[in-house]
Amino acid sequence: MKRIYADNAATTRMSRRAIDAMLPYLDTAYANPSSLHSAGQEAAEALRRAREEVAACLGAEPKEIVFTSGGSEADNQAILSAAALGERKGKRHIVSTAIEHHAVLHTLKKLEKQGFSVTLLPPRENGVIPPEEVERAIREDTCLVSVMYANNEIGTVEPIREIGAVCRARGVLFHSDAVQAVGHLPVNVKEDGIDLLALSAHKFHGPKGAGVLYARAGVPLVSLIEGGAQERGKRAGTENIPAIVGMAAALREACEKREEVNARLLPLRDRLIEGLSRIPRSALNGDRTARLPSNVNFCFEGIEGESLLLLLDQKGICASSGSACTSGSLDPSHVLLAIGRPHEVAHGSLRLSIGEDFTEEDADYVIAAVSETVAYLRGISPVWQECLAGKRPFILP
Ligand SMILES: *Cc1c(COP(=O)(O)O)cnc(C)c1O
Repeated sequence: MKRIYADNAATTRMSRRAIDAMLPYLDTAYANPSSLHSAGQEAAEALRRAREEVAACLGAEPKEIVFTSGGSEADNQAILSAAALGERKGKRHIVSTAIEHHAVLHTLKKLEKQGFSVTLLPPRENGVIPPEEVERAIREDTCLVSVMYANNEIGTVEPIREIGAVCRARGVLFHSDAVQAVGHLPVNVKEDGIDLLALSAHKFHGPKGAGVLYARAGVPLVSLIEGGAQERGKRAGTENIPAIVGMAAALREACEKREEVNARLLPLRDRLIEGLSRIPRSALNGDRTARLPSNVNFCFEGIEGESLLLLLDQKGICASSGSACTSGSLDPSHVLLAIGRPHEVAHGSLRLSIGEDFTEEDADYVIAAVSETVAYLRGISPVWQECLAGKRPFILP
C-alpha cells in the first residue's frame, strides 16, 4: 500500500541536498571547530558559512545567529533572556497568546512561578491575534511580547509585521516562534520588526536536533547551558557541525523553492478543504485564507480524533489530531479550545499537513478515506445515535 505522509507540521523528510551537505561532516570532516589545527579550522569555516547562509535567509547579520538544539531550546532561551532583562529594569509582565506551542507556554508558566505576570491573549474565532489587542495588553512594566508566526495546529498566519510595529512603537521586545513559518513564508526579521526568533531545521527538510535563535544585535542573551565559549558564550557545547551544515543547506533550498512549492500546495490544500467541508457537521479550524499553504485542520462532530487517526493509518494515511506533543494525552488541544471549540468537538479533530510530494490523487484518496471513516465511526457512536434520534442537540451546524 502506498503511504501518504500528511504530517509535515510534526516533522519533514530530509531533503537530498541537506543529506549530501551533511555527509562529509559525519565522515571525514569530523574535527572540532574550536581546534586550532587545519582540520579544526575547516570545520570552523563550515560553521561560519552556515551562519552566513542562515542569516541571509532571515535578513539578519551572522553575529545575530545562535545555533541551538532546536525550536524548543530557542524559544526557552529567547523568553528567559527577555525576562532576565526585564527583571533588571523592574519589568515583570509578559504578553503572549493562548495558542502558543508548549515550548513557549511552559516557559511562561515557569516565569509566573518566579513572580512574573503573564497575559495570554485569546485569538479571534479564526485563530488570528489582533494587533490592537496586543497594543491594549502592553503595560508600563511589559518586558516582552511573544506571538508565534504561524500556528502549528490550525496553520493560522499571524499579523506579525503589524504586531512588530506595535512593539517597536511601545519599546517592548518582540519574540516570535517562527518554527512553522521559516522556510515556508517570506520571514524577514528586520522588516517584520522581530527582536528574537526561533526556528527549527526539521520543519523545513533539515535534520532533527538543530535550530536557531535569532537575537537582534544589542539584545543580551542568558545561556541555558554553561560550559565552553561556543556561540559567543551564549550556548556552550561542541557545535553539531553536521546538523548545522544540513540545516543551512535545507534552509537555502527551502527559501529558493518556497514560492514554487507554495503555488503547488495551495490548490491541493483548498481541494482538501472543499472536499472535507462536504462532510456533514464538520468545521474548518483556523482562517480560510490567512493560513499556511500546507495546513488543513477540521473538527468532525461525534467522533474521536484518535480513532480516526488509527483507521486512517490503516488506509496508509499519516495524519495528526493536532500537535505531536499533546497526542497521547486525553486533553483536547488548547488551541482548539482557545478558538472556541467545545470539548466534545475539539476531541474530533484532524490535522493534515501536506508536503511537496502530495498530489491531486492523494487529495482525492484522503477526502474519500476521511469521509468513509468519519461515517463509520459515527455509525458506532452512541452519542451520534442520540443526536440523530433527537435526544441530544447537535453542536456543529
Ligand atoms: C515543532 C515546533 C516547536 C519545537 O521545535 P523542536 O525543534 O522540535 O524543538 C516549537 N514551536 C512550534 C510552533 C513548532 O511547530
